[in-house]
Amino acid sequence: MIYTITLNPAIDRLLFLEKTLVKEKNNRLSKIDYDLGGKGHHGSFAMSKLGVKNQALGFCGTTNKSKLEKILQEKGINHDLVEVYGKPTRESYVILEAGVSGSILITEKGFRVSSYDIELLTEQIEEKIQEDDMVLIAGSLPPGFELRNLEELLQLLKKKNCFVACDLSGAALAKAVEVGVNFIKPNAFEIQEIVSEENSLLDNLKELSKKVDYIVVSQGSEGSICSHDGELYQITAPKVVAVNDTGAGDCFVGSFLGSLSLGKSLVESLAFASGCAASKVQYTNSTSFSVKEAKRLQKEVRIEKVQNH
Ligand code: ATP
Ligand code: MG
Repeated sequence: MIYTITLNPAIDRLLFLEKTLVKEKNNRLSKIDYDLGGKGHHGSFAMSKLGVKNQALGFCGTTNKSKLEKILQEKGINHDLVEVYGKPTRESYVILEAGVSGSILITEKGFRVSSYDIELLTEQIEEKIQEDDMVLIAGSLPPGFELRNLEELLQLLKKKNCFVACDLSGAALAKAVEVGVNFIKPNAFEIQEIVSEENSLLDNLKELSKKVDYIVVSQGSEGSICSHDGELYQITAPKVVAVNDTGAGDCFVGSFLGSLSLGKSLVESLAFASGCAASKVQYTNSTSFSVKEAKRLQKEVRIEKVQNH
């Protein structure tokens, strides 16, 4: 079983403007859509869409619980969330202007979790997770969930001997590397935050690979670089017209882990995940992608071993 853990969930409220955004003017909306904003939920969505069994764990606020539940249900995501009483799951605003690619994102910090909430989550994880499971921790840490709480969670998972994947950033990502998880996927900015500026990317990857089995550094439309088992792979991205690249990394991570869990090879999983993510960037929201198109795009992906590193 694959479990995803979203510690700081979010509901995306997509605001489609009739025209472009203008200050000091009434900007009318043509429509509003709702989508999942939490990165673990995005990962779960990709896996569920691919038919890979998984369950989304983590926190959710009780005051607007039905809103999040409705989206999770509509998107077919199996979930079992720890309720944080009397607080709302944060809502993010994604402003999309007519005829303009890209979006404006405005987010709240998220509710504060107490040591009691963290205890409930820990108990649930302690009960559910088994040695053969895969766990993906993705997204930011909510207020009240400190680095030492993350360390305890990672140590608990390590003790379970399951496969631990982390899509984190900043100090949380550095902590995951320090503890030594099985998979990380920093993007071009996130990798800068945890390595030495003086060394080349390949040298930095070599250093990180002493602690982490699978490292994928994603570089948007430029593709990605993967380090595993003493080898480095350069992966190209299919050429597509990008509408919204938010969530490309989450789609990549969900489809990559889903593919690995089905016993597919590393190279096949990298190519397939690149196909899924390239399909995703052509949609306006942060989660949608087409499996059929991903399979077609996968054939365009070139994967080469980097020599002499
Ligand atoms: P997020 O955190 O919003 O999910 P990210 O910054 O972590 O995204 P990116 O590096 O932007 O992740 O993208 C992840 C992968 O998605 C890339 O390695 C690539 O395979 C694919 N991808 C992203 N943007 C494009 C694009 N414009 N065209 C084709 N593929 C893309
Ligand atoms: Mg990312």
